[in-house]
Amino acid sequence: MSILYRSDAARGAAWARYFAENAPDLDFRVWPDAGNLEDVEYLIAWQPPREFLAALPRLKVLFSSGAGIDHLDFAAVPPHVPIVRMVEPGIINGMVEYVSLAVLALHRDFFDYVEAKAARSWNPLEVPPASARTIGVMGMGVLGCAVLERLATYGFQLRGWNRSLRPIDGVESFAGAEQLQPFLAGCDVLVCLLPLTTATQGILNRDLLGMLPRGAALINVGRGPHLVDADLLEALDSGRLSRAILDVTDPEPLPADHPLWAHPRVFVTPHVASMTQPDTAAPILLENLRRHRRGEPLQGLIDRFRGY
Ligand code: NAP
Repeated sequence: MSILYRSDAARGAAWARYFAENAPDLDFRVWPDAGNLEDVEYLIAWQPPREFLAALPRLKVLFSSGAGIDHLDFAAVPPHVPIVRMVEPGIINGMVEYVSLAVLALHRDFFDYVEAKAARSWNPLEVPPASARTIGVMGMGVLGCAVLERLATYGFQLRGWNRSLRPIDGVESFAGAEQLQPFLAGCDVLVCLLPLTTATQGILNRDLLGMLPRGAALINVGRGPHLVDADLLEALDSGRLSRAILDVTDPEPLPADHPLWAHPRVFVTPHVASMTQPDTAAPILLENLRRHRRGEPLQGLIDRFRGY
């Protein structure tokens, strides 16, 4: 069985080490030492070029090396080749950490204290209990549910919005377009953890932001194109929104002259909320390879029609 890793070069060595130690019978290659492309059966990649995929006649499965798959050109992947996304504890833990940090920073007014410190101003603000804030998560998938579970431990009021209704103890669940407005109306902090699809592109727009309570904050950890930047800036300047924390932007990297950098109430991080960790991802991928060999269903299989 030949597997080729063609993704983040810095982490390629860790992947190769894991396979050498735990599956020495498998022919695991790291790009650019790809050997004969004609016998590659499994590809682990982020953005494989179209002509490169065409050079893999025996390809059986394409594994995305990251959680999302919106970067992939589905049309370039032969229809008989399943596409599998990365679902692994390292990505989940990273996202839970990041969103907890962002929510707590907003809840405890950390950004106000950063400004106060710069002005050498000793200005204690009210400290409401977590139970006085409602956090809403859009997208109750693997990551959204893990985030809600952790946020519950702090005592926040929680609500979630999803395509299909997903009841979770302690979370007020909403589903579909018709329940978007009632969902948003109660969110003090809105977290976007949706996949990027034709249905969700531009979803964080003027209409949606206008349904949030005045002074709400936004955390976007989904994808940059979920957000209409101009509508966010307008909502911040009008006071409709208090702050935004953006881990994803459009484009990435965000150009130095982009207005999001300059806005005092926008905090940007360079798409680091969570990343695939080879130590935890390689065992999951190996098990998935073995499932495929045994003819069992792959975990994390993408529905090309749905787009996630
Ligand atoms: P997932 O398990 O596939 O979950 C996606 C969820 O979104 C599902 O529950 C789905 O509902 C819901 N959904 C999809 N389209 C919708 C729509 N039009 N309206 C309402 N809900 C919709 O994905 P995940 O693993 O949680 O990851 C979510 C996203 O996080 C990824 O796609 C990626 O964009 C982003 N991400 C970002 C980073 C980062 O570092 N910033 C890292 C990893 C992932 P159904 O259950 O009804 O289908």
